Amino acid sequence: MSLNFDQILSGKKTVAIAGHVRPDGDCVGSCMGLYNYIKSVYPDIEAQVYLEPIPEVYKFMANTDTIKQADGVTEVYDLFVCLDCGDSRRLGASAAVFDNARHTLCVDHHMSDHDFAEDNYVFPKASSTCELLFELMDPDKVTKDVAACLYTGIVDDTGVFQYDGTSSKTMRIAGILIDKGIPFSKIIQKTFYEKTYKQNRIMAEALLSSKLYDDGRIIVTWLSKDTLDRYDVIASDTEGIVEALRSTKGVSVALFLHENNDGTYKGSLRASVDVNLVNVAKLYDGGGHTKAAGFTATGDPEHDIIPRLLDAIRKELDEQTK
Ligand code: 5GP
Ligand code: MN
Repeated sequence: MSLNFDQILSGKKTVAIAGHVRPDGDCVGSCMGLYNYIKSVYPDIEAQVYLEPIPEVYKFMANTDTIKQADGVTEVYDLFVCLDCGDSRRLGASAAVFDNARHTLCVDHHMSDHDFAEDNYVFPKASSTCELLFELMDPDKVTKDVAACLYTGIVDDTGVFQYDGTSSKTMRIAGILIDKGIPFSKIIQKTFYEKTYKQNRIMAEALLSSKLYDDGRIIVTWLSKDTLDRYDVIASDTEGIVEALRSTKGVSVALFLHENNDGTYKGSLRASVDVNLVNVAKLYDGGGHTKAAGFTATGDPEHDIIPRLLDAIRKELDEQTK
Protein backbone atom coordinates (compact mmCIF):
# COMPACT_ATOMS: atom_id res chain seq x y z
CA MET A 1 0.00 0.00 0.00
CA SER A 2 1.34 3.46 -0.80
CA LEU A 3 2.12 6.02 1.90
CA ASN A 4 -0.84 7.92 3.37
CA PHE A 5 -1.72 10.06 6.38
CA ASP A 6 -3.56 7.21 8.15
CA GLN A 7 -0.18 5.45 8.46
CA ILE A 8 1.90 8.57 8.95
CA LEU A 9 -0.27 9.88 11.80
CA SER A 10 -0.96 6.52 13.44
CA GLY A 11 -0.19 6.77 17.19
CA LYS A 12 0.80 10.45 16.93
CA LYS A 13 -0.71 12.84 19.48
CA THR A 14 1.15 16.05 18.66
CA VAL A 15 2.22 17.28 15.22
CA ALA A 16 4.24 20.36 14.28
CA ILE A 17 3.91 21.60 10.70
CA ALA A 18 6.35 24.07 9.15
CA GLY A 19 7.66 25.33 5.81
CA HIS A 20 10.42 27.56 4.49
CA VAL A 21 11.36 31.10 5.48
CA ARG A 22 9.59 33.91 3.56
CA PRO A 23 6.55 31.66 3.04
CA ASP A 24 4.93 31.70 -0.42
CA GLY A 25 1.61 30.31 -1.68
CA ASP A 26 2.70 26.67 -1.88
CA CYS A 27 4.32 26.86 1.54
CA VAL A 28 1.32 28.46 3.29
CA GLY A 29 -1.17 26.38 1.25
CA SER A 30 0.52 23.09 2.14
CA CYS A 31 0.96 23.95 5.83
CA MET A 32 -2.64 25.14 6.25
CA GLY A 33 -3.98 22.37 3.99
CA LEU A 34 -2.41 19.74 6.24
CA TYR A 35 -3.42 21.57 9.43
CA ASN A 36 -7.07 21.81 8.36
CA TYR A 37 -7.04 18.18 7.15
CA ILE A 38 -5.76 16.98 10.54
CA LYS A 39 -8.34 19.16 12.35
CA SER A 40 -11.23 17.59 10.44
CA VAL A 41 -10.05 13.98 9.95
CA TYR A 42 -8.03 13.41 13.16
CA PRO A 43 -9.60 15.82 15.69
CA ASP A 44 -7.79 14.19 18.65
CA ILE A 45 -4.37 15.13 17.28
CA GLU A 46 -2.96 18.43 18.49
CA ALA A 47 -1.45 20.21 15.48
CA GLN A 48 0.47 23.49 15.32
CA VAL A 49 1.74 25.40 12.27
CA TYR A 50 5.01 27.34 12.64
CA LEU A 51 5.74 29.92 9.95
CA GLU A 52 7.23 33.37 9.57
CA PRO A 53 4.55 36.08 9.06
CA ILE A 54 2.56 35.19 5.93
CA PRO A 55 1.58 37.57 3.09
CA GLU A 56 -1.88 39.19 3.54
CA VAL A 57 -3.31 37.53 0.42
CA TYR A 58 -3.11 34.06 2.02
CA LYS A 59 -4.97 35.02 5.18
CA PHE A 60 -8.30 33.95 3.66
CA MET A 61 -7.28 30.34 4.31
CA ALA A 62 -9.04 28.80 7.32
CA ASN A 63 -7.23 29.04 10.68
CA THR A 64 -4.24 31.14 9.59
CA ASP A 65 -4.81 33.06 12.86
CA THR A 66 -3.49 30.00 14.76
CA ILE A 67 -0.05 30.13 13.07
CA LYS A 68 2.81 30.79 15.46
CA GLN A 69 6.44 31.75 14.93
CA ALA A 70 8.89 29.10 16.10
CA ASP A 71 11.35 31.35 17.95
CA GLY A 72 12.11 29.94 21.39
CA VAL A 73 9.73 26.95 21.09
CA THR A 74 11.04 23.98 23.12
CA GLU A 75 8.07 21.60 22.86
CA VAL A 76 8.90 18.05 21.76
CA TYR A 77 6.42 16.92 19.08
CA ASP A 78 5.61 13.30 18.16
CA LEU A 79 5.94 14.28 14.50
CA PHE A 80 7.37 17.25 12.64
CA VAL A 81 6.12 17.64 9.05
CA CYS A 82 8.40 19.79 6.94
CA LEU A 83 6.65 21.14 3.84
CA ASP A 84 7.95 22.81 0.65
CA CYS A 85 11.47 23.00 2.05
CA GLY A 86 14.37 21.25 0.31
CA ASP A 87 17.07 22.30 2.75
CA SER A 88 16.93 22.17 6.56
CA ARG A 89 18.62 25.60 6.73
CA ARG A 90 15.56 27.06 5.00
CA LEU A 91 13.43 26.12 8.01
CA GLY A 92 14.67 29.19 9.88
CA ALA A 93 13.56 29.23 13.53
CA SER A 94 11.54 25.99 13.04
CA ALA A 95 14.80 24.04 12.66
CA ALA A 96 15.06 23.72 16.47
CA VAL A 97 11.53 22.24 16.65
CA PHE A 98 12.53 19.83 13.85
CA ASP A 99 15.66 18.77 15.78
CA ASN A 100 13.65 18.13 18.96
CA ALA A 101 10.84 16.13 17.32
CA ARG A 102 10.49 12.37 17.91
CA HIS A 103 9.92 11.70 14.23
CA THR A 104 10.26 13.80 11.05
CA LEU A 105 8.64 13.72 7.61
CA CYS A 106 9.47 15.90 4.62
CA VAL A 107 7.01 16.43 1.75
CA ASP A 108 8.64 18.51 -0.97
CA HIS A 109 9.34 19.09 -4.67
CA HIS A 110 12.65 21.01 -4.60
CA MET A 111 15.92 19.72 -6.07
CA SER A 112 17.96 18.62 -3.12
CA ASP A 113 21.32 16.90 -2.69
CA HIS A 114 20.15 15.00 0.36
CA ASP A 115 17.07 13.89 2.25
CA PHE A 116 17.16 15.42 5.70
CA ALA A 117 14.06 13.99 7.40
CA GLU A 118 13.54 10.40 8.57
CA ASP A 119 10.73 9.88 6.05
CA ASN A 120 10.82 11.72 2.75
CA TYR A 121 8.07 12.08 0.16
CA VAL A 122 10.13 14.17 -2.26
CA PHE A 123 9.51 14.40 -6.00
CA PRO A 124 11.30 17.30 -7.78
CA LYS A 125 9.19 16.87 -10.92
CA ALA A 126 5.91 17.49 -9.07
CA SER A 127 4.19 20.82 -9.68
CA SER A 128 3.98 21.74 -6.03
CA THR A 129 4.12 20.48 -2.47
CA CYS A 130 0.33 20.87 -2.34
CA GLU A 131 -0.06 18.33 -5.16
CA LEU A 132 2.14 15.81 -3.29
CA LEU A 133 0.28 16.45 -0.05
CA PHE A 134 -3.04 15.72 -1.76
CA GLU A 135 -1.66 12.31 -2.84
CA LEU A 136 -1.16 11.41 0.82
CA MET A 137 -4.74 12.39 1.74
CA ASP A 138 -8.01 10.51 1.34
CA PRO A 139 -9.71 12.55 -1.43
CA ASP A 140 -13.15 11.87 0.05
CA LYS A 141 -12.09 13.48 3.34
CA VAL A 142 -10.69 16.66 1.76
CA THR A 143 -13.02 19.46 2.88
CA LYS A 144 -13.70 22.69 1.03
CA ASP A 145 -11.33 24.53 3.43
CA VAL A 146 -8.51 22.05 2.76
CA ALA A 147 -9.20 22.19 -0.99
CA ALA A 148 -8.92 25.99 -1.03
CA CYS A 149 -5.48 25.82 0.64
CA LEU A 150 -4.14 23.13 -1.73
CA TYR A 151 -5.56 24.83 -4.82
CA THR A 152 -3.85 28.11 -3.86
CA GLY A 153 -0.50 26.36 -3.55
CA ILE A 154 -0.85 24.60 -6.89
CA VAL A 155 -1.90 27.84 -8.62
CA ASP A 156 1.05 29.73 -7.13
CA ASP A 157 3.77 27.18 -7.94
CA THR A 158 2.51 26.45 -11.46
CA GLY A 159 2.03 30.14 -12.35
CA VAL A 160 -1.65 29.29 -12.88
CA PHE A 161 -1.02 25.93 -14.55
CA GLN A 162 1.66 27.13 -17.02
CA TYR A 163 5.07 25.89 -15.77
CA ASP A 164 6.72 22.59 -16.73
CA GLY A 165 5.79 20.84 -13.48
CA THR A 166 2.12 21.04 -14.46
CA SER A 167 0.98 17.56 -15.51
CA SER A 168 -2.31 15.91 -16.38
CA LYS A 169 -2.27 14.66 -12.78
CA THR A 170 -1.98 18.25 -11.55
CA MET A 171 -5.07 19.12 -13.60
CA ARG A 172 -7.00 16.07 -12.35
CA ILE A 173 -6.21 17.01 -8.74
CA ALA A 174 -7.20 20.63 -9.43
CA GLY A 175 -10.46 19.28 -10.84
CA ILE A 176 -11.18 17.29 -7.67
CA LEU A 177 -10.41 20.40 -5.59
CA ILE A 178 -12.75 22.54 -7.73
CA ASP A 179 -15.49 19.93 -7.20
CA LYS A 180 -15.26 20.63 -3.45
CA GLY A 181 -16.95 23.97 -4.22
CA ILE A 182 -14.00 26.35 -3.77
CA PRO A 183 -14.16 29.86 -5.30
CA PHE A 184 -11.37 29.00 -7.74
CA SER A 185 -11.60 32.08 -9.99
CA LYS A 186 -11.48 34.35 -6.96
CA ILE A 187 -8.50 32.46 -5.51
CA ILE A 188 -6.52 32.88 -8.76
CA GLN A 189 -7.46 36.54 -9.07
CA LYS A 190 -6.82 37.51 -5.43
CA THR A 191 -3.69 35.48 -4.75
CA PHE A 192 -1.95 35.55 -8.12
CA TYR A 193 -2.98 38.45 -10.32
CA GLU A 194 -4.25 41.24 -8.07
CA LYS A 195 -1.57 43.80 -7.16
CA THR A 196 -1.74 46.85 -4.94
CA TYR A 197 -1.06 50.28 -6.43
CA LYS A 198 2.34 50.31 -4.70
CA GLN A 199 3.17 46.86 -6.10
CA ASN A 200 2.36 48.05 -9.61
CA ARG A 201 4.60 51.07 -9.15
CA ILE A 202 7.60 49.04 -7.96
CA MET A 203 6.99 46.63 -10.86
CA ALA A 204 7.12 49.61 -13.24
CA GLU A 205 10.37 50.82 -11.65
CA ALA A 206 11.87 47.32 -11.95
CA LEU A 207 10.91 47.00 -15.61
CA LEU A 208 12.12 50.50 -16.47
CA SER A 209 15.51 49.98 -14.86
CA SER A 210 16.03 46.46 -16.28
CA LYS A 211 19.07 45.78 -18.46
CA LEU A 212 19.47 43.29 -21.27
CA TYR A 213 22.66 41.29 -21.80
CA ASP A 214 23.86 38.85 -24.48
CA ASP A 215 21.58 39.99 -27.30
CA GLY A 216 18.57 40.04 -25.01
CA ARG A 217 18.93 36.47 -23.75
CA ILE A 218 19.51 37.60 -20.15
CA ILE A 219 17.60 40.33 -18.31
CA VAL A 220 18.62 41.79 -14.96
CA THR A 221 17.11 44.24 -12.48
CA TRP A 222 18.26 45.14 -9.00
CA LEU A 223 16.53 47.40 -6.49
CA SER A 224 18.21 49.03 -3.51
CA LYS A 225 16.63 49.38 -0.08
CA ASP A 226 16.41 53.14 -0.76
CA THR A 227 14.32 52.47 -3.86
CA LEU A 228 12.02 50.08 -1.99
CA ASP A 229 11.61 52.74 0.72
CA ARG A 230 10.91 55.44 -1.86
CA TYR A 231 7.95 53.39 -3.12
CA ASP A 232 6.99 52.45 0.45
CA VAL A 233 7.12 48.72 -0.32
CA ILE A 234 8.44 45.66 1.53
CA ALA A 235 10.18 42.59 0.11
CA SER A 236 6.98 40.60 -0.44
CA ASP A 237 5.63 43.45 -2.62
CA THR A 238 8.28 42.56 -5.21
CA GLU A 239 6.63 39.17 -5.81
CA GLY A 240 5.95 38.73 -9.53
CA ILE A 241 8.71 41.04 -10.77
CA VAL A 242 11.12 38.27 -11.77
CA GLU A 243 8.30 36.51 -13.63
CA ALA A 244 7.46 39.70 -15.55
CA LEU A 245 11.14 40.02 -16.50
CA ARG A 246 11.27 36.37 -17.60
CA SER A 247 8.24 36.73 -19.86
CA THR A 248 10.04 39.35 -21.98
CA LYS A 249 10.24 38.10 -25.58
CA GLY A 250 13.64 36.60 -26.40
CA VAL A 251 14.72 36.30 -22.76
CA SER A 252 16.09 32.92 -21.65
CA VAL A 253 17.05 33.81 -18.08
CA ALA A 254 15.86 36.58 -15.74
CA LEU A 255 17.67 37.73 -12.62
CA PHE A 256 16.09 39.97 -10.00
CA LEU A 257 17.81 41.25 -6.86
CA HIS A 258 16.54 43.41 -4.06
CA GLU A 259 18.38 44.65 -1.01
CA ASN A 260 17.33 43.26 2.37
CA ASN A 261 17.18 45.32 5.56
CA ASP A 262 20.58 43.94 6.62
CA GLY A 263 22.33 45.02 3.39
CA THR A 264 22.38 41.54 1.85
CA TYR A 265 20.63 40.90 -1.46
CA LYS A 266 17.80 38.45 -2.06
CA GLY A 267 18.13 36.99 -5.56
CA SER A 268 15.57 35.29 -7.78
CA LEU A 269 16.33 33.46 -11.02
CA ARG A 270 13.85 32.28 -13.64
CA ALA A 271 14.35 30.54 -17.00
CA SER A 272 12.21 30.01 -20.04
CA VAL A 273 14.62 27.47 -21.55
CA ASP A 274 16.02 24.18 -20.23
CA VAL A 275 18.91 25.28 -18.03
CA ASN A 276 19.74 24.34 -14.46
CA LEU A 277 19.46 27.50 -12.37
CA VAL A 278 20.14 25.57 -9.19
CA ASN A 279 23.78 25.50 -10.35
CA VAL A 280 23.70 29.30 -10.60
CA ALA A 281 21.98 29.82 -7.23
CA LYS A 282 24.55 27.51 -5.60
CA LEU A 283 27.13 30.24 -6.17
CA TYR A 284 25.51 31.90 -3.15
CA ASP A 285 24.47 28.75 -1.31
CA GLY A 286 20.92 28.93 -2.69
CA GLY A 287 18.73 26.38 -4.45
CA GLY A 288 15.25 25.68 -5.72
CA HIS A 289 14.17 24.21 -9.06
CA THR A 290 15.90 24.02 -12.46
CA LYS A 291 13.85 26.90 -13.88
CA ALA A 292 13.16 28.85 -10.66
CA ALA A 293 15.83 29.28 -8.02
CA GLY A 294 16.78 31.72 -5.30
CA PHE A 295 19.63 32.74 -2.97
CA THR A 296 20.89 35.48 -0.66
CA ALA A 297 24.12 37.26 -1.62
CA THR A 298 26.54 39.65 0.05
CA GLY A 299 28.55 42.23 -1.87
CA ASP A 300 28.19 45.09 -4.31
CA PRO A 301 25.40 44.23 -6.77
CA GLU A 302 26.73 46.09 -9.82
CA HIS A 303 30.41 45.33 -9.52
CA ASP A 304 30.44 41.98 -7.79
CA ILE A 305 27.18 39.99 -7.49
CA ILE A 306 25.65 40.59 -10.94
CA PRO A 307 28.89 40.03 -12.95
CA ARG A 308 29.54 36.74 -11.10
CA LEU A 309 25.98 35.58 -11.70
CA LEU A 310 26.09 36.60 -15.37
CA ASP A 311 29.17 34.40 -15.84
CA ALA A 312 27.42 31.46 -14.19
CA ILE A 313 24.22 32.00 -16.21
CA ARG A 314 26.24 32.14 -19.45
CA LYS A 315 27.92 28.87 -18.51
CA GLU A 316 24.53 27.21 -18.03
CA LEU A 317 23.20 28.65 -21.31
CA ASP A 318 26.32 27.35 -23.12
CA GLU A 319 25.72 23.89 -21.62
CA GLN A 320 22.21 23.99 -22.98
CA THR A 321 23.27 24.75 -26.56
CA LYS A 322 26.00 22.04 -26.59
P1 5GP B 1 12.16 32.76 -5.22
O1 5GP B 1 12.99 33.31 -6.30
O2 5GP B 1 10.70 32.85 -5.51
O3 5GP B 1 12.54 33.26 -3.86
O4 5GP B 1 12.50 31.22 -5.14
C1 5GP B 1 12.46 30.36 -6.26
C2 5GP B 1 12.62 28.93 -5.77
O5 5GP B 1 13.89 28.76 -5.15
C3 5GP B 1 11.59 28.51 -4.72
O6 5GP B 1 11.27 27.17 -4.93
C4 5GP B 1 12.31 28.70 -3.41
O7 5GP B 1 11.83 27.82 -2.44
C5 5GP B 1 13.77 28.42 -3.78
N1 5GP B 1 14.70 29.27 -3.02
C6 5GP B 1 14.67 30.61 -2.90
N2 5GP B 1 15.68 31.08 -2.15
C7 5GP B 1 16.38 29.98 -1.76
C8 5GP B 1 17.56 29.79 -0.94
O8 5GP B 1 18.17 30.73 -0.43
N3 5GP B 1 17.96 28.50 -0.77
C9 5GP B 1 17.32 27.43 -1.34
N4 5GP B 1 17.80 26.20 -1.10
N5 5GP B 1 16.22 27.57 -2.10
C10 5GP B 1 15.75 28.83 -2.32
MN1 MN C 1 6.68 24.89 -3.74
